[in-house]
Amino acid sequence: MCEICDGEAEDTIHALWDCHVLKEIWWEMDICRSNLATRFTCFSDLLTGIFNSQEPNQAEVFAFVAWEIWRKRNALRVGVDSIPYSKIFVEAIERLQEFQAARSDQILTNQRNGFTSWVPSPNPLLKVNFDGAVFQDTYHAGIGVVIRDSEGKVLSALSERIKLTPTVDDVKAMACRRAIENGLQQALFEGDSATVINDIQAGPPCLASFGHIIEDAINLTSHLYYCSFSHVLRKGNTVADKVAIN
Ligand SMILES: [Zn+2]
Repeated sequence: MCEICDGEAEDTIHALWDCHVLKEIWWEMDICRSNLATRFTCFSDLLTGIFNSQEPNQAEVFAFVAWEIWRKRNALRVGVDSIPYSKIFVEAIERLQEFQAARSDQILTNQRNGFTSWVPSPNPLLKVNFDGAVFQDTYHAGIGVVIRDSEGKVLSALSERIKLTPTVDDVKAMACRRAIENGLQQALFEGDSATVINDIQAGPPCLASFGHIIEDAINLTSHLYYCSFSHVLRKGNTVADKVAIN
């Protein structure tokens, strides 16, 4: 039973959309206003509609508002203080702006610091380069992971074929996760997707389409003794790239 309206069974779509106390929040978004009375069978139907709407930035705003609503719901359940419903929309917009500002700073910093050529790791650390490639013509994708020591000697290389995934970043995120799964206890990880590296560094939640893969990867790092992630320009990632397209 929904503890907020005390009237209906609480499933995900009720907790995030249907509950009447949420309508004033969703009313703030143009894209939602005309659908306030619509009953969606499940949350993913609603989400798909928002994502397909082609309205610039609406998917991000929607995700941040939904996230704040979920936080509020959890806070109420465990009896901790939370902001009133009337402030949720403004709070979500502020968080989104913070996120966007941090993200553009990070991308600029990485572009400035991005290595153009491969540099070995300091002894005794190993460096793990990863890359992913999509082959549209044959509907598959490839993952490449290369582990080298501080002298640049290749200790291991892994090449995997996977079914076609939607975007290059999806595949690069998978390559990153695969790189962490290799069993090393400490390593420097390097990839040429600034998006993937930034998302890993930012920590959960990751709202990208490949967010679940990034969150898996972040979880895996909690078992490592030491790790760091850095962005390298494509020229510095050629060996992993070759393994991925091999
Ligand atoms: Zn309710």
